[in-house]
Amino acid sequence: MSDLSNKVILTLAPTGNVPTRQLTPHVPITPQEIAADAYACWKEGAAVVHIHTRDNEGNPTSDVDVNREVMAELDKYADCDMIRQVSTGGRAGKSFTERGQMLCLSPDMSSLATGSSNFPAKCNFNDPETISYLAAEMLKYNVKPEIEVFDTAMIWNAIRLAEKGEIKTPLHFNLVLGVAGSQPATVEALMYCYQNLPKDCTWGVSAIGKDHVKLSSIALALGGHVRVGIEDNIYFAKGVLATNVALVRRMKNIALAMGKEIATPAEARQILGLTPKK
Ligand code: ZN
Repeated sequence: MSDLSNKVILTLAPTGNVPTRQLTPHVPITPQEIAADAYACWKEGAAVVHIHTRDNEGNPTSDVDVNREVMAELDKYADCDMIRQVSTGGRAGKSFTERGQMLCLSPDMSSLATGSSNFPAKCNFNDPETISYLAAEMLKYNVKPEIEVFDTAMIWNAIRLAEKGEIKTPLHFNLVLGVAGSQPATVEALMYCYQNLPKDCTWGVSAIGKDHVKLSSIALALGGHVRVGIEDNIYFAKGVLATNVALVRRMKNIALAMGKEIATPAEARQILGLTPKK
């Protein structure tokens, strides 16, 4: 096995639930657009694609058929071995069964928020019943959770759930910084999360807002991985709309300048303990 300790996993979050075509023309909405953008970003070094789906009107949906369509579109890029991560986030479905309906497709990974917090105008609702249901579905379909940490209590709850056997270890965390209503995108918030992560975990950051580059760079320096994409930042710089490719390319170049190497999807699978792609 090659030395993986210096490798950085770049995750692409191309769409999310919030960005609309009115906000930015660069957000991919349809399954075809999402797959095409993922492929272009894979060529730039992204190893994981974090998938949100939209209905025909562009509204967030967890619909299993739309998710299946995205997977089929990704399959068309036969040379692309990107890791596929679906979202069970609370903005796209009401009940937990609705939110977890695509897990039966056995994607490599899925987001799992291990607690409730607030979005700017809505509750990020994840009560114990919801979390346990989604975690059990992930176990059933061999899907590795990415623990989405909107507030630090979610770290300790993930550790507790792992101790109870509801989530497999080693855990993988995504520290989400800068969602209005949850923990801020500050160095202090990042360090507090970092210092409280369990020893044997893997982790990355998803930094939203103007300090995205600064906080992502600190995560890289600490040995973390980084998520980029229009889901997290519609702006590349003040007044300049982002493209997914430009966001990935910039973070790749920062990582390379710091002496890091970019993990291929195969290497990211080893780092995350995923089964090799068939
Ligand atoms: Zn997401």
